Amino acid sequence: MSNPSPSPRLPSWEQLLGRLYFHERAIPPTKQEFAILRYLAESRETIRPVLGRIALMLSRLEPIKAVVVTQRSATDLQILATTISRKRATAVVGQDFIARLLRARALTERAIGRKDQWLYERYHTVYSCPIGNRSDCCQLLFFTTEPLSQSRIVFLRFAVQILGLRLTKQGLEDQLKREAESVASLTHHLSEGMAVINAERIVTLWNRPLQRVTGYAPTEAIGQPIESTFRHTDNPEWLTGEIDRLTREPLENLFRDEFEIRTKQGHKKWVNVSGSALRDKHQRISQVVIIVRDITEHKLLEQRKNEFISIATHELRTPITAIKGYLSLLEKDKTSLTEKHRSYLQRVTAANDRLVRLAEELLLSVQVEEDRLRLNLRPVNLAVILGKVTRDLRQKAQHKGLELIYTSPDFLTWVVGDEDKVQQVFENLIDNAIKYTTAGAITVWLEKREISGQPVIITYIRDTGIGISSKNYGAIFEKFRRTHNTVQIRESGAGLGLFIVKSFVEKLGGKITVSSRIGRGTTFSVRLNASEEMEDGKKVKEK
Ligand code: ADP
Repeated sequence: MSNPSPSPRLPSWEQLLGRLYFHERAIPPTKQEFAILRYLAESRETIRPVLGRIALMLSRLEPIKAVVVTQRSATDLQILATTISRKRATAVVGQDFIARLLRARALTERAIGRKDQWLYERYHTVYSCPIGNRSDCCQLLFFTTEPLSQSRIVFLRFAVQILGLRLTKQGLEDQLKREAESVASLTHHLSEGMAVINAERIVTLWNRPLQRVTGYAPTEAIGQPIESTFRHTDNPEWLTGEIDRLTREPLENLFRDEFEIRTKQGHKKWVNVSGSALRDKHQRISQVVIIVRDITEHKLLEQRKNEFISIATHELRTPITAIKGYLSLLEKDKTSLTEKHRSYLQRVTAANDRLVRLAEELLLSVQVEEDRLRLNLRPVNLAVILGKVTRDLRQKAQHKGLELIYTSPDFLTWVVGDEDKVQQVFENLIDNAIKYTTAGAITVWLEKREISGQPVIITYIRDTGIGISSKNYGAIFEKFRRTHNTVQIRESGAGLGLFIVKSFVEKLGGKITVSSRIGRGTTFSVRLNASEEMEDGKKVKEK
């Protein structure tokens, strides 16, 4: 969209008066002139009615008898306003007349050698004066019985300049409106819903595909607060929340979310929303564009798949638990088994453990998907959890000839969390580090920082393993996604662990990132918000 130049601001009538009085003319304006200036500056109508009214007001200034405003195009001459009958005006201001007038003006121009905007032409008793840009081709014609006085001419010139300014302003506004309409009509052909809102959360654009999603037509949504037509079922303030977050983080401009909305007809629909904030030169958010996709069908399918996984896993759990029970009975009675049978028992136990883990992960992933995770939020001491997890997994690492190094921090490590979930996050990450490393060490350490005024604790888990190519950084956090090299090193896994880990971390208000080099190793970092309650050392003592 080409950006039209900003529309000129009209000076107030006091300013107009000042300019006229001090710079243009020594004689103060008459009462009528005064009224004209005031009307020119204060009226809020569009240019057409203003032209009519001004023509009438000007025609009352002696010795003006009639005023006609014309606009000439290549083929035709239009009368925009007149104080005499339209028929008479057309007769006196016909094409012929104007042609003669213009010729005469060209001669005068040449004769006096100047080409300024104001050129009045005494043609018998008609004065002509162009208004606005030459491209507007507008003329004001004054019919008088005798010549105009110099001071009246100065006033008319001034008034016409202001009219010209209004005409230009209107032209720019019309252009802006046309461009906005053409952008809006382009957006109607998109396949996705699109809305634009301004800094006050008022909708300025709403395309037809969004009407198909929400039931609200562009005419019903534009000019209204976004919340009244795009209604998040659980959190009506979702957009305000996103905008507040982006306001706090000036380097971020994007957000993405999935939620249920209630349509105009009262139905529920699932939508995927991507938003982008546009900022002004002071970095303040001036507009937000949101793209909306209807994902109801996809969600229904997911829901059915999740139901199936839930039922199947529940059914699997009973026999798996029974097998586990009998295996532990056999384990107790190991002495009666031959060496060969013992090795079978070991393998069956390991395979069954994998099945137990898979069932747990499947159930958890369904809970995450259906947003059924319940968190027991309270201050948790990270150092204590990491101490325990590294102790439990050290043997597994040593078994593979790997070193597991955990450096205890010398600062308080209380975070806002859920003890079980936090433990599962680190068990998973450190277990992965061991799984995907064939030689070297796994190092775990903590760091305390402040990010956007919020104290956070970052835990790093670094390994010297097979690595992950950067193009897979996003994919590894998706369900059932495993990288190519993982399959090659024959480590078992369903590709659910990191999906669950990321969901837990985000649910706790934290962030997980990864950086890696193929063949050199991987570092995961988990950022959790420090618990201010514990920072102050008020309530819970370190265990
Ligand atoms: P899995 O059960 O396969 O381990 P995860 O969701 O825990 O599932 O991990 C997803 C994939 O991410 C893994 O299959 C592996 O390809 C990759 N991955 C995870 N952690 C590491 C790591 N420390 N080093 C290399 N690759 C890793």
